Amino acid sequence: MGQAVKSIKGVHDILPDNIHNWHFLEQNVRDVMSGYGYREMRTPILEKSELFHRSIGEVTDIVEKEMYSFEDLNGDHLSLRPENTASCVRAAIQHGLLANNQTSRIWYLGPMFRRENPQAGRYRQFWQVGAEVYGVPGPYVEAELILLSARLWERLGLNDQVELQINSLGTSEDRDNYRSELVSYLNDHISELDDDSKRRLTTNPLRVLDTKNPAMSNVVAGAPNMLDHLCDESREHFESLQSALQQCGIAYQINTRLVRGLDYYSHTVFEWVTNKLGSQGTVCAGGRYDGLTEQLGAKPTPGVGWALGMERIIELVAQQQGEQNPPEPEIFMVLANEQAIVSGLALAEQIRTAEPGWSVTCNCTVSGMKSQFKKADKSRAHVALIIAEDEVTNGTVGIKSLRRQADQQTVAREKVLEVLRSEFLNPQ
Ligand code: ATP
Ligand code: MG
Repeated sequence: MGQAVKSIKGVHDILPDNIHNWHFLEQNVRDVMSGYGYREMRTPILEKSELFHRSIGEVTDIVEKEMYSFEDLNGDHLSLRPENTASCVRAAIQHGLLANNQTSRIWYLGPMFRRENPQAGRYRQFWQVGAEVYGVPGPYVEAELILLSARLWERLGLNDQVELQINSLGTSEDRDNYRSELVSYLNDHISELDDDSKRRLTTNPLRVLDTKNPAMSNVVAGAPNMLDHLCDESREHFESLQSALQQCGIAYQINTRLVRGLDYYSHTVFEWVTNKLGSQGTVCAGGRYDGLTEQLGAKPTPGVGWALGMERIIELVAQQQGEQNPPEPEIFMVLANEQAIVSGLALAEQIRTAEPGWSVTCNCTVSGMKSQFKKADKSRAHVALIIAEDEVTNGTVGIKSLRRQADQQTVAREKVLEVLRSEFLNPQ
């Protein structure tokens, strides 16, 4: 026997004992999205690398050093998706979802891949849920997307755990104006910049504000304010968003240092942050990206959206709710011999047909009764149904509660459902 193969660094298995946390989040996501008229879209995990180079931008952490890219046997350059906005826009263009100034509201859920330094809350395969709207300019659809996320927090019991931060990057002209002032400020403080920031100073200076290096926080704090460089139209846009949020009762903070890690944003950007997860405090992030469709070769179309990190949200939910027990199965069938197993399989089928909500586990291999009862207890089932030699001969079934002290009763096979329903389990 060779050594066991283990999973790779920074990617994780989600085990059966934890899957209910995921289902809880996923079900709430589905319900909330449908409540706002958003429809699910599933795009491939594998895309042409070019898609991400053109959308995310060459001078970003993701494209510079985090993508899993390779050349396949045909010489095609492919990448595992590091995020899903670019893929959604690609699919929307490809399938005509943007034609004739249509509006599309879509959402997605799935794994993303970035070759980051693995640590708590930061993985190399992680899961995102996202919402995107195409074809709607202006601040009110941004408000809708924020309301949607706020409703999700409420459903998950996280209202008090997260805080909304917003900022405006303005138009590309506003950004150009701001950029030149920022560059001259950063040049004045060049000795305080780390290597990454020095490099970005020439390639993509706004990104300096997005640094994760604590040693840079003073320089960043003293930088000129982006909001001072908005034109009238951009300022009105941002103010209308704020008054919509206020009227809908959504609290927010303006964070003038908030720039998103990707290149394609304009006007509104926002993040939901928490102080409950250590340094990986951003649980959801988004903004407007009107320039992206053009960058990807289609006519300009308004776009806006957000993505949340599922692991971080699940961790927050777990902190709030404490350890939750996985759902409990209803019935475990203890079956003494081969004849009993076959008879038990048939009975289990009848039960599942009559009560599709009940979960029935059959012990499918011949083994001692004592060890089967141990398995039944371990399964946390409510009731054991027992078929041994006598039961096979007499056409009966033993029923025993695994929760309360009571003797095993023996009932005719035709009566099993009736007795289960009236004495042991609630019909679903
Ligand atoms: P961060 O600032 O934490 O690096 P980001 O700006 O790179 O985040 P986005 O690309 O906007 O993140 O992704 C949206 C959300 O996805 C993040 O707010 C976070 O919750 C989650 N996320 C991003 N990268 C990771 C990762 N490597 N592992 C786990 N979750 C992640
Ligand atoms: Mg990042």
